[in-house]
Amino acid sequence: MRNHSVRQDSLKWVWIDLDDTLIDFRANSRIALRLLYEKMALSRFYACCDDWIDAYEKNNKSLWDRYNRAEITKDFLRIERMRAVIADAWQGGSDDLVNLSWEMDRVYLALLAEQKTLVEGAREMLDYLRGRKYNIGVLSNGFSQVQHLKIASAGLTGKIDLVILSDDIGVNKPDRRIYDYAMEKAGCPDPEAHVMIGDNPDTDIAGAVAAGWGAIYFNRGKAGAPVMHEQFVEIGSLSSVISLL
Ligand SMILES: [Mg+2]
Repeated sequence: MRNHSVRQDSLKWVWIDLDDTLIDFRANSRIALRLLYEKMALSRFYACCDDWIDAYEKNNKSLWDRYNRAEITKDFLRIERMRAVIADAWQGGSDDLVNLSWEMDRVYLALLAEQKTLVEGAREMLDYLRGRKYNIGVLSNGFSQVQHLKIASAGLTGKIDLVILSDDIGVNKPDRRIYDYAMEKAGCPDPEAHVMIGDNPDTDIAGAVAAGWGAIYFNRGKAGAPVMHEQFVEIGSLSSVISLL
């Protein structure tokens, strides 16, 4: 299948988002949040663990949207995603709340880094792309402290040629500087030689399109065949990549 948004003939590098594209971040995060709830006795704030997870996820999502728009710093995101969800029930002083929030974030990230769940079809897609002799990169807005550990825990280290993280250069997808940086690191300056696969239209896809790359929007679970949009292709399952690249 040929489409100007994929450009099969000139393609050399396939870049893939990590969280919720290769690694099942949502599943892994829920496991880590449940373990954190037990480990740090969070029943003092939430009688029910599911309520804790709901509150955390809602707050975390809105903080990540702001972080991706470069409105807040990484440190603010890390402390606030914990602090805001326990502040109402907190009884002690504010310094102690800040200390506890940092400790929760540290423990959460350590637990998260140990999880192994992959998105369905991720391993098969990587093996297919490798067989087609494409170079494979990860392009992620996640934190360097955990992304490399997550890749290793999931058994993906040997399947990826290059890992580019927003932490490496201090700008996030969709800022095109991270796409330019990826091309520089790959030693391949032709935008038409690159395609991005990712689950976030506002970051992964918007940035790739602006950089002149091909783009495959992974709209996980969407039924049916790939849909050709003007600037990108939309797929519901990673197995569809095999028909596109
Ligand atoms: Mg993602």
